[in-house]
Amino acid sequence: MASKTVEDVLFPGIDVRVERIIDSSDTLLVEAVSTGRPGRCPACRKQARRVHSSYQRTLDERPLGSRLVVVRLRVRRYFCDHRSCSRRTFVEQVPGLSERHRRSSTGLTGWLRSIAVEFGGRPAARLCRRLRVAAGRTRLLRLLTAPPVPDRAPRVLGVLGVDEFAFRKGCTYGTVLVDVEAGRVVDVLPDRTSETFAAWLTDHPGAEIICRDRATAYSKAVKEAARTPGRPGRPGRPGRPGRPGSR
Ligand SMILES: [Zn+2]
Repeated sequence: MASKTVEDVLFPGIDVRVERIIDSSDTLLVEAVSTGRPGRCPACRKQARRVHSSYQRTLDERPLGSRLVVVRLRVRRYFCDHRSCSRRTFVEQVPGLSERHRRSSTGLTGWLRSIAVEFGGRPAARLCRRLRVAAGRTRLLRLLTAPPVPDRAPRVLGVLGVDEFAFRKGCTYGTVLVDVEAGRVVDVLPDRTSETFAAWLTDHPGAEIICRDRATAYSKAVKEAARTPGRPGRPGRPGRPGRPGSR
């Protein structure tokens, strides 16, 4: 059996070297140094050549057993020597471990985001307290960012998922359209009326199957649009288990 280094165990595939581990009763403090290639300037994307300085960042990491883990990561600040770039210096990020302005590791941020998605604000914060992960409601909610909506809706040739969502619950609703096979948001409509959706379908023909959850208005829209040239897709059954786009 091949022996593993401490880096293989704690930071697999991440460009860091562990210098020291300080073990207190409930926390492992891991001191590590970034060892990756020089970073790219976030403004001009050119690779840096000169180190300006280095400093230590503190990142919360996922717990190990019953221990909290804190990483003290030494990162480098680089000069950007590209003449036309507005940045003079920038701090490197370690892929898989650090992100700009975040005090938690990439792994812990992923955990927190999943918890926030599943449980919402307050229940997520309660669960984090039980797991002894320091994350309040506001911080958890800040991790929930909406998927980007493209400026121009791309053509969907496969399965188009359609569902309503609340801009404000009980007051205003919109419609979200998803390319189910590509797993991306295609467009967001300002309401959930059959007229708006029918107009969209007429402007964007090509979807083979349309999966919808809210049968009435969306089915009407599919039928209306089907009467116009540029036939939209045949509708899928609403809410059918196991069908893409159904709940
Ligand atoms: Zn630059």
